[in-house]
Amino acid sequence: MKNVYVDNNATTAVAPEVVEAMMPYLTTAFHNPSSMYERSRGPSDAIVAARATVASMLGGVADPELIFTSCGTESNNAALRGAARANPGRKHIITTAVEHPAVLEVCKAMARDGYEVDFLPVDDQGRIDVPAYVRALRPGSTLIVSIMHANNETGVVFPVADLARIAKETDPAILFHTDATQTAGKLLLDLTAEYQHVDLMTFSGHKLHAPKGVGVLFQRKGSRVAPYLIGGHQERGLRAGTENVAGIVALGKACELAVAAYDDEARVQALRDRLERQLLEAIPYTHVNGADAERLPNTLNVAFHFVEGESILFELDRLGICASSGSACTSGSLEPSHVLMAMKIPFTAAHGSIRISLSRYNTQADVDYVAQELPGIIARLRRISPYWDQAKNEPRADGPADNH
Ligand code: PLP
Repeated sequence: MKNVYVDNNATTAVAPEVVEAMMPYLTTAFHNPSSMYERSRGPSDAIVAARATVASMLGGVADPELIFTSCGTESNNAALRGAARANPGRKHIITTAVEHPAVLEVCKAMARDGYEVDFLPVDDQGRIDVPAYVRALRPGSTLIVSIMHANNETGVVFPVADLARIAKETDPAILFHTDATQTAGKLLLDLTAEYQHVDLMTFSGHKLHAPKGVGVLFQRKGSRVAPYLIGGHQERGLRAGTENVAGIVALGKACELAVAAYDDEARVQALRDRLERQLLEAIPYTHVNGADAERLPNTLNVAFHFVEGESILFELDRLGICASSGSACTSGSLEPSHVLMAMKIPFTAAHGSIRISLSRYNTQADVDYVAQELPGIIARLRRISPYWDQAKNEPRADGPADNH
């Protein structure tokens, strides 16, 4: 059976060079970097080198501004909870309705703890309403703005550099956090130039060809954020716990490879665009979610109206294709994704939405295989759809309104 992996926004294959770089720290150089003997020098120097590489990917930020964590979720929790603990006088938070649960659920929990949280809406293309954002900022009381750089489901990119600047112009004490889990290693992220007003940036190793179990929290010098994990003195007391040396080395290598491959993003985008064109041409009643917005080059969220996304994924899986849906299964009922619901995508389209996300390891043969198989799958599923008129081979006239 074929093996076509097009779910890179969920996780990525570990790059072979990354495996090679981390291997010594899982075998011979296993020593605790904090120990006093000579053999701990290797692991401790390796962390220093990895930190410098990550710092350089982010535009040459100062090494102490980077804290290694265990994942994107931890980094986001640390940013939000740490900001709250250090600034107890501020009780207002701004985020968006389309954040990953690693931000959304933390904000909801903070709302339960007494914080006032604005969950900003998006338009039907997944774009943020900037004037509404400006109106939401409250000088003197907004603690933190947490707005993702790019959405993991649709790939829609938010104008984070501008949003951060606006926050600082409104009140320099407002902290600005961006979850860059889907953009680190894909888009140029210069925290000393374009993104100079961002105080906190977070991302995760396993989205850029490092293994799971390592993440990053960029915390700009001078920003008031309390440590989240307290214990030993590791990471200068900002994140206690014996360092995941192999993971950190892996992340450093993955960042080095990502920077070297920035030019490859154009090829990835060409593959994505080729697939998008083929699907729109071959399959009627299909649209691309976020088509008019700026999107990540690797991401395609496509809605096949009048079918069930989960069934599409099941059929793709049988053909050796790993993709994912915009839907999540909640308590036995199939709810469309919170992102597509926030975009007010009609439900017959939201239910039939799937996400295809590429990486630099994908080939034209991969996308052509997906494009070759999907029309038959969609036609078969429509034949058994309650919204489809089998006799006329078109949507049922008395079906729910679907205005796309
Ligand atoms: N933020 C975004 C935008 C993501 O896409 C993800 C993972 O899908 C996360 C955070 C969570 O990252 P991790 O799995 O490393 O905790």
